[in-house]
Amino acid sequence: MTATDVPLGHSIPAHRVHGWCSHCPQRSLAEEVAAWQIDAEERHMEEEGGEGPFAVAVDWQKCPDCGDPHSLSVVQVTVRTTTGIKRAGGWVFCLNCESVPQEAAHAGS
Ligand SMILES: [Zn+2]
Ligand SMILES: [Zn+2]
Repeated sequence: MTATDVPLGHSIPAHRVHGWCSHCPQRSLAEEVAAWQIDAEERHMEEEGGEGPFAVAVDWQKCPDCGDPHSLSVVQVTVRTTTGIKRAGGWVFCLNCESVPQEAAHAGS
């Protein structure tokens, strides 16, 4: 499995780490968020022992659509390269109302 096996429009970091992404059939964005969370927790437990260049940060914020204070997941995927840490991707997704407020994705940066 190489990067070129990732179908166009799919998440390359997700395919590298999980072997699938939210764009794959039978998968949802909620599943990918959950998978990244589990992955982030595992990496955290391993401290710096975990290999692989990808790191994921998940932040929980208030959803602008349904108003739920903690259900909006703001995910940032970064990749460690020889020149430093670069942002590889990320998304904003509400687990409560399943909205994807694109504007919120840029609010914090
Ligand atoms: Zn995919
Ligand atoms: Zn919501």
